[in-house]
Amino acid sequence: MPRVLIIGAGITGLSAAYFLKKHCDVLLIEKSGKTGGWIQTDVRGGFLCEQGPRGCRGVGQGEATLNLVHSLGIQDQLIEANPLAKKRFIWTDGRLEALSPSFLFKKGLIRECLFEFFRRKSQEEDESIASFFSRRFGVKTAEILADAITTGIYAGDIHTLSMRSCFPGLWEMESILRGYLFKRKKGGSIPLFSFKEGMVTLPLALEKNVQDHLLLRTEVLSYKNNKARLSNGKEVAYDYLIDTTPLKEVSKSSIALIHLGFDNDTIKNPGFGHLIPTGNDPHVLGVVYDSCLFPQQNKQTKLTVMVGGARFPEVVNTSKERLIEIALSALKRQMDIDERPSFVHSHLCKDAIPQYSVGHHRLIEEYEAKWKNHFFLGSSTEGVAVNCLISQADRLAKKIALELQ
Ligand SMILES: Cc1cc2nc3c(=O)[nH]c(=O)nc-3n(C[C@H](O)[C@H](O)[C@H](O)COP(=O)(O)OP(=O)(O)OC[C@H]3O[C@@H](n4cnc5c(N)ncnc54)[C@H](O)[C@@H]3O)c2cc1C
Repeated sequence: MPRVLIIGAGITGLSAAYFLKKHCDVLLIEKSGKTGGWIQTDVRGGFLCEQGPRGCRGVGQGEATLNLVHSLGIQDQLIEANPLAKKRFIWTDGRLEALSPSFLFKKGLIRECLFEFFRRKSQEEDESIASFFSRRFGVKTAEILADAITTGIYAGDIHTLSMRSCFPGLWEMESILRGYLFKRKKGGSIPLFSFKEGMVTLPLALEKNVQDHLLLRTEVLSYKNNKARLSNGKEVAYDYLIDTTPLKEVSKSSIALIHLGFDNDTIKNPGFGHLIPTGNDPHVLGVVYDSCLFPQQNKQTKLTVMVGGARFPEVVNTSKERLIEIALSALKRQMDIDERPSFVHSHLCKDAIPQYSVGHHRLIEEYEAKWKNHFFLGSSTEGVAVNCLISQADRLAKKIALELQ
């Protein structure tokens, strides 16, 4: 059987190992003492705290994740988001507003969007998210909606991030509105999902299935000529290599998650949470209303305030006390919550979210052209969402399996 060396046991490496172990002799190497990478769930003070992702969408690439869940036999652990979580809010101009047609109308965004149908596709090979949205929908839509969505996914700056790499589906569509309407007719929305005991359920189930192939607490120091050098002094030979670790050329943004628990029901407007476009808060990116989103996971009110990203890179040097102060002050201003929380925990995710700058696709093409039988997957390459990473691993495993036939 061909030997496949996989570097990194985050969700990408674990999924690749799981999909490939039927066809190849797989070795999965992880430098830390545990699997899951950014997917970690803690239960603290009776509250479930996600230290990374808190859910996946069921649509589109979510199918690959749901298929994996079924293949692992953990479907009984799945939980769907509360229907109330369809409601999302945005904090702009000192007000918390529901993202609704009346909000779009009030802000003049519907008028700006009407002409999108008639705008032609760009001839450029890439452009920034700000440029794309301003050109197709107008500057206001870029500054309010595109900024808020980008903040929620990439914690990044719409003026430097690449539209082509951050939102490939939208980039390829001739018209977003036409695509959206077409998709709506066909699909309907499948809700967000997680697991009763949090997102960590997925990597733990994968780990159980690949444990005979897994080497923890070992770093891959370098690789060349089908041989990799490990931190334990050994060398391993391989036929294929899958590197899922962050690419050094891609910058990353850091965010702090401030988890807050309350004894009383403090959320006046239930929903998924709210996002904050740039310029509306110097530190805070948004707030997730965890106990509304997945009430199965928290009996009492639980919120997560996200601080940092491109708008506040100093987050990495900010004390926990100051971060908690920032979070509490945002809750008071934005959600009218005056009450002291009964539980507080702050967690820094340093260099967590890759920032695909304009022209990012070229870097990936160069990597692919330079290395034969070496594959570069993971959040530094073609998407940060868990669904996207599982689907990447699935596609690659099918490609390798086909080559081996
Ligand atoms: C705070 C936060 C919230 C998020 N929210 C969501 C969300 O709600 N929904 C969603 O879909 N996505 C979300 N994401 C994104 C998603 O969680 C990540 O993109 C994804 O988990 C990355 O997985 P990965 O396997 O590609 O990389 P990683 O998780 O970074 O795993 C890479 C692994 O490689 C190991 N490694 C590195 N170098 C070496 C080496 N030389 N040798 C051996 N091992 C090495 C690392 O220790 C690590 O375990 C969020 C991310 C963060 C940080």
